Amino acid sequence: MGEESDSLNFSQTDKERENEMKQYYEKKITQLLNKISNIDTKAMRYYEQYQQLLKNGLSSDSLQLELDNSKKELKDTKDELEVTRVNYDQQMRILTEQFISLNETVSQLDTDLIRIKQHKVTCGKCKNWNILEYVFSPENTGLFCSKGHPIQTIQP
Ligand SMILES: [Zn+2]
Repeated sequence: MGEESDSLNFSQTDKERENEMKQYYEKKITQLLNKISNIDTKAMRYYEQYQQLLKNGLSSDSLQLELDNSKKELKDTKDELEVTRVNYDQQMRILTEQFISLNETVSQLDTDLIRIKQHKVTCGKCKNWNILEYVFSPENTGLFCSKGHPIQTIQP
């Protein structure tokens, strides 16, 4: 019982860490998508204005410059989004691998503990065999044998 709740707590902490990381990346990706959408709108407006000026036989170097800047900003933000997505995938993969490996370790420890608890010790006084699970149980505060003798030394 005790070991089961321990490993549950352990998985819970790991899950919370995973969720925090997920939320962080999802927020960042949403921010970048919004930024891209805003820059896209801005670039579209500059482009329309530029086309209008060309139609009227006018030219505007400053508008062309702003259009180029918007295009560059759009490209940079899209690159940042791509990097963020790759990092996110990597982090989640590492976390999942760690999670699986830690769960295996915990499960192995549980198995070991169940096995160790079945080891028997003899009481020095009455020579009765007692399993370690009984000797170390919380109810057995004084480390007594089943006959109530205090166990002095434990030999495997
Ligand atoms: Zn005894």
